[in-house]
Amino acid sequence: MYTMRPAEFEYHRPTSLDEAIDLLGELDDARPLAGGHSLLPMMKLRLATPAALVDLGRIPGLDGISANGGLTIGALATHASVEGSEVAVGICPVLPETAGQIGDRQVRNRGTIGGSVAHADPGADYPTVLKALGATITARGKNGEREIAADDFFRGIFETALEPGELVTAVEVPAMKAGTGAAYLKHRHPASSYAVVGVAAVVTVENGSCTDARITVGGLAAPPVHADAAVDALSGTGGSSEEIEAAAAKVLESLSSPSGDTYASGEYRTQLATVLAGRALAQAFDRAA
Ligand code: FAD
Repeated sequence: MYTMRPAEFEYHRPTSLDEAIDLLGELDDARPLAGGHSLLPMMKLRLATPAALVDLGRIPGLDGISANGGLTIGALATHASVEGSEVAVGICPVLPETAGQIGDRQVRNRGTIGGSVAHADPGADYPTVLKALGATITARGKNGEREIAADDFFRGIFETALEPGELVTAVEVPAMKAGTGAAYLKHRHPASSYAVVGVAAVVTVENGSCTDARITVGGLAAPPVHADAAVDALSGTGGSSEEIEAAAAKVLESLSSPSGDTYASGEYRTQLATVLAGRALAQAFDRAA
């Protein structure tokens, strides 16, 4: 019966990371709980019925945002804290801009970057941007800690490289090279704000010409895809509007025909990807300058 009430579950609230990892290893069918803004709705709909929740919310030291050349963001940093972080604004402004586009104020106040990447929703915003930025996900489990490139971490719809019982502890974003600009734009679903299509563009300009770029498209593809043909078309250009338009037109070559739903057809999503790529590239070139 449809009740909007979760099935019964045990609730554990560890106060250290080691304790959380031990609990996840010992308990049958246990899931970590962070902001609860993806897991709890799924439990209420009985799409997830874990026997136990291990609440990460009382583990100290996992919500920091610090500079290390690049940026280290603890898994429990909320979207609101990333959005409002002066450190993040100073080092990688596209990340707080992305956080500010997630859901609404309530979602941003509770949802965490660790929960978002671990959940790997196809409509989520961080995976697209983190892939474009060449970020790394730090994970810890009973066999120790490992660093996973975002390119390898996101595997599909709700699918990541995390092993059972492994926790995301941080996201590392590398320092941006001089002359680099980045932008993320999305077409948000009017009900949920999730990305129907989201495009991240990162470009590096040296002596007036583009020497490095990444264009990454999410929302219509899981995991998000790099638009390599579009990047090849940009190489050596100065980022004029004609050059950007020509490169954006090549985004399609990296998309396998996306499926549609009641909100947007596959064809419409593909068209959105091209338009958003052009706009994101224009912003990224402006910022690189
Ligand atoms: P939880 O819901 O607590 O957990 C999600 C999953 O990740 C669970 O499987 C959990 O076991 C696992 N998990 C959590 N933390 C960790 C960890 N540290 N290590 C390993 N596994 C972990 N997202 C967007 O990107 N863009 C949007 O526009 C958007 N709009 C939204 C609108 C609404 C109305 C709602 C309810 C959500 C929306 N979201 C959106 C999702 C939101 O960003 C969630 O916060 C996010 O997906 C999950 O983060 P959380 O901290 O709430 O994780």
